[in-house]
Amino acid sequence: MNKLVIATNNVGKVKEYKTFLTPLGFEIATLKDFPSIKIEENGTTFEENATIKASTVMMELGLPVLADDSGLVVDALNDEPGIHSARYAGDHNDVANRKKLLTKLQNIPYEKRTAHFHTTIVAIKPNGQKLIANGRVNGHILNTERGSNGFGYDPLFYVDALGCSMAELSPNQKNKISHRGNALKSFIKNFDKWWYSK
Ligand code: IMP
Repeated sequence: MNKLVIATNNVGKVKEYKTFLTPLGFEIATLKDFPSIKIEENGTTFEENATIKASTVMMELGLPVLADDSGLVVDALNDEPGIHSARYAGDHNDVANRKKLLTKLQNIPYEKRTAHFHTTIVAIKPNGQKLIANGRVNGHILNTERGSNGFGYDPLFYVDALGCSMAELSPNQKNKISHRGNALKSFIKNFDKWWYSK
């Protein structure tokens, strides 16, 4: 059996990755299976953080590992909150993060509230070979929240291509167009070459 570790405790992410990897015959483990592993996520870019997560776990376990890092990038805020998206307002608190975002943008007109969500996936094998995939989705930051699905900044993120907020999409609709979904598509395209390379 091929074993791959997903370096996350996030149940939603694990489900998304399993949808793709389980039919291919992979046994998936997650950080929940290895609670003693501590990761110090101190990179300065999405790719650095995903690489730190993937290589820390790979070195501990000697198994192939996949990690990702995502966030919201707002043009008018010099790309904030970016890698600080989860703890923008201090603790990991989605409501406080959205409130801070709205306050920071209060004097910015809608046409200048352009933003995107970004995901970088990094997978690494014990022989050091890496597979890196990126994905994004473009939008605008709304003045008020819309919709109740999703998490994080979804109710404030207007998806330009669909004409609704991210929180107004069903999970399936979101996976089809999201930054994570797009990164995963690109990852899948190159997966076999990476997995079977010596
Ligand atoms: P992570 O790296 O995927 O854990 O994402 C870090 C943070 O970025 C999350 O805690 C959210 O604040 C934000 N974020 C990432 N992906 C999404 C999304 O799909 N919707 C809303 N917020 C997101």
